[in-house]
Amino acid sequence: MTIQQSTDEILQSVQQQPAGTATFKSVHPETQAIHGGSFRFDPTTGAVAVPIYQTTSFQLPGTDGADKLFALEAPGHLYTRVSNPTQDAFEQRLAELEGGAAALAVSSGQAASAFAILNLARSGDNIVSAAGLYGGTWALFAATLKNFGIETRFVDGNDPEAFARATDDRTRAYYAESLPNPKLEVFPIGEVAAIGRKLGIPLIIDNTAAPLTIKPLEHGAAIVVYSATKYIGGHGTSIGGAIVDGGNFPWADLADRHPQLNEPDPSYQGKTWIEKADAISFFPYILRARAVLLRDIGAAISPQNVFQLIQGLETLPLRLRQHNENAIKVAEFLQKHPKVSNVIFPKFQTGKAAERAKTYLKNGAYGALVGFELKSGRDAGRRFIDSLQLFYHLANIGDARSLAIHPSTTTHSQLSVEDQLKSGVTPGYVRLSIGLEHPDDLIADLTQALENA
Ligand code: PLP
Repeated sequence: MTIQQSTDEILQSVQQQPAGTATFKSVHPETQAIHGGSFRFDPTTGAVAVPIYQTTSFQLPGTDGADKLFALEAPGHLYTRVSNPTQDAFEQRLAELEGGAAALAVSSGQAASAFAILNLARSGDNIVSAAGLYGGTWALFAATLKNFGIETRFVDGNDPEAFARATDDRTRAYYAESLPNPKLEVFPIGEVAAIGRKLGIPLIIDNTAAPLTIKPLEHGAAIVVYSATKYIGGHGTSIGGAIVDGGNFPWADLADRHPQLNEPDPSYQGKTWIEKADAISFFPYILRARAVLLRDIGAAISPQNVFQLIQGLETLPLRLRQHNENAIKVAEFLQKHPKVSNVIFPKFQTGKAAERAKTYLKNGAYGALVGFELKSGRDAGRRFIDSLQLFYHLANIGDARSLAIHPSTTTHSQLSVEDQLKSGVTPGYVRLSIGLEHPDDLIADLTQALENA
């Protein structure tokens, strides 16, 4: 037997196994992160790592099958702007990890939050959002969506009833971050989701800062969005985003509230998205996000980047455990430090914030973001940052490396001091994103930088 013959035999036997035959189902995130979704091996080669399908387009079946593909009546890939097998493997795994029904990967977290809203709201509509938001999301809602005619009503995220008060018959969604910084007070997901469900309004949660540590769908959220650039990718290499559809929001019963899913779409044979999804037993929200928004706006993730996100996903539960443990050690160290007046970390909160931390944070974890205030204010913050040797000074979170930023001289420097204070940024406030280094080394770097602060 030649080498070529034996290779052919192996390939033939592999190909006889049905493609995508992952049959073992687990409830454990460690296993789901590696085996979740239907991908088991590449049906052509037997490769077990999800291949990077670096192609723009896919060979169509005969004209009979092709029309079904284009009409979304048969599964398959046409063009990588809309879907790709590497992307598909990531989406299925993420949906399973999140406890959702289906997911859509996009080119960035910003694209994910923009799509999450644009899938429901159009000119003349409004959304209600917690005011504690990542700056990019704030700008998207306050300026860009406003220019599209979509109004955002910002409310205090700690006051669930404020969402009800801001709602009218053109309100299409509620939006919040699960663990917004700088205050790091967990958002009351269950309370706001319940208000929304009574009024027919889905709660969309940006869970970027706390994947797996907070499970928004378990508390009634309808949709979860991620900047996968952060913990999911986990290594600071790739920008990406994702939307997870919980699959249990009653869109079909809410025709007046959600016209975009319930009205005939002339670009899809005049069918509604409820009908299109029903015909293939799928989920209308996420189907429309792909078939309309990804098609028309084109914020597609590249196969190379989504491959990197799959690598991140495989170790996400393991990495998060270490991120979270390191953060507790760092926060406890800072709390005892004489130059620190206040440590902002869910473990140390009191009152309502502490109750919510207890309700929503899982497994004794508090996330891996730690804020603290230097007694000597802005100049001390500047000196502290400039003295760091191990922590990087940059405006990101969720990297394997530990990161630090002094918002009043960077991310918030364009705001007046009053506006900085309103958003929770005092002059001596420093935000840390705790990485995967040994905690003793992190504490050693903080110790020497604090000496210079
Ligand atoms: N949401 C949160 C909470 C973020 O921190 C970020 C980015 O910093 C984003 C969304 C936007 O994500 P991306 O940078 O991937 O577009």
